[in-house]
Amino acid sequence: MIFVLRPSATLSDRQRLVHEIEKLGARAHDVSEGSTLAVATQSAPGASTSALGALQALPFVERVLTIAKPYKLAAREAGKGRSVVSIGSVPVGGDSFAVIAGPCAVESELQLRASALGARDAGASILRGGAYKPRTSPYSFQGLGADGLKMLRDVGDELEMPIVTEALDPRDVELVARYADALQIGSRNSQNFPLLSEAGRTGKPVMLKRGMAQTLKELLLAAEYVLRAAPAGAAASVILCERGVRSFDGETRNLLDLASVPALQELCHLPVIVDPSHATGRSELVAPMAKAAVAAGADGLMVEVHPDPLAARSDGRQALRPSEFAALMEKVERLLEIEGKQLATPLRRP
Ligand code: PEP
Ligand code: MN
Repeated sequence: MIFVLRPSATLSDRQRLVHEIEKLGARAHDVSEGSTLAVATQSAPGASTSALGALQALPFVERVLTIAKPYKLAAREAGKGRSVVSIGSVPVGGDSFAVIAGPCAVESELQLRASALGARDAGASILRGGAYKPRTSPYSFQGLGADGLKMLRDVGDELEMPIVTEALDPRDVELVARYADALQIGSRNSQNFPLLSEAGRTGKPVMLKRGMAQTLKELLLAAEYVLRAAPAGAAASVILCERGVRSFDGETRNLLDLASVPALQELCHLPVIVDPSHATGRSELVAPMAKAAVAAGADGLMVEVHPDPLAARSDGRQALRPSEFAALMEKVERLLEIEGKQLATPLRRP
């Protein structure tokens, strides 16, 4: 349920409403936009919907909207138009198209800096890199852990790029949130509910990747776990990432479901980005799918860039060299013009 308050409502009116909602055993979330005050409720078992609805009689409540979708906070109706989520100072969504780029895994400071420089100089505004890697085999490189987080922070600060990195284990979330500007929840964990809640509790933006066999409804319910757990007063901040789903054809690593971009944008108010690297698993397919993602209306891209893909400790087969990434970004910039959007930060050509 969303309570939209009258324009004359004051902050203390809103506090009173929150208090009344919580007295009825439900949880209140602030979903105010601009000067419109609004409060969404999450009914808990035992909270009576009709008692909540009766709060409509309060003099400062203008109207009450009931959201039929099971994901109440992520639903399109819960936002006022499409949400823009900022990672550090970089807006993702609206007319700001954000490109997140960097290596699959942080391997060394040298490798990370070379990748980040190539990414930034070509127009990426956010740096990615895994410090904790979700590897299929326990014998594969698992990431540098806390040392990798420190390298990400240092290189991000040096190049003035906010950083996003994956948290794999609820026990690491606090540490990851201390270093990162946004937390990534990977495909393999996109229905790890305790991890989603733990990430939400940090109040940091969460970039949530679609599970490899996850329906859009399940993805939105996973986002709901994050949104629900956010501390009171924290802005709703989840960015969804389409990265392909499992299919029967082994020629590409996954099947990139680009229709999910406009479909998700119709269902929810959260920004939706596309990861053509994990979706295809082949560097030569990354640029065509990245361009298609722009045309599909995505709010951004996540692309793996490595200075020496042949030497990469993970996902080298899908990594772009900095020069290939730069060539792609020139095309992306031109396509964005057609879409009426701009890169989140201007191109900084060397
Ligand atoms: C990643 O982005 O590093 C990653 C492992 O991706 P996914 O969770 O989509 O497989
Ligand atoms: Mn990878």
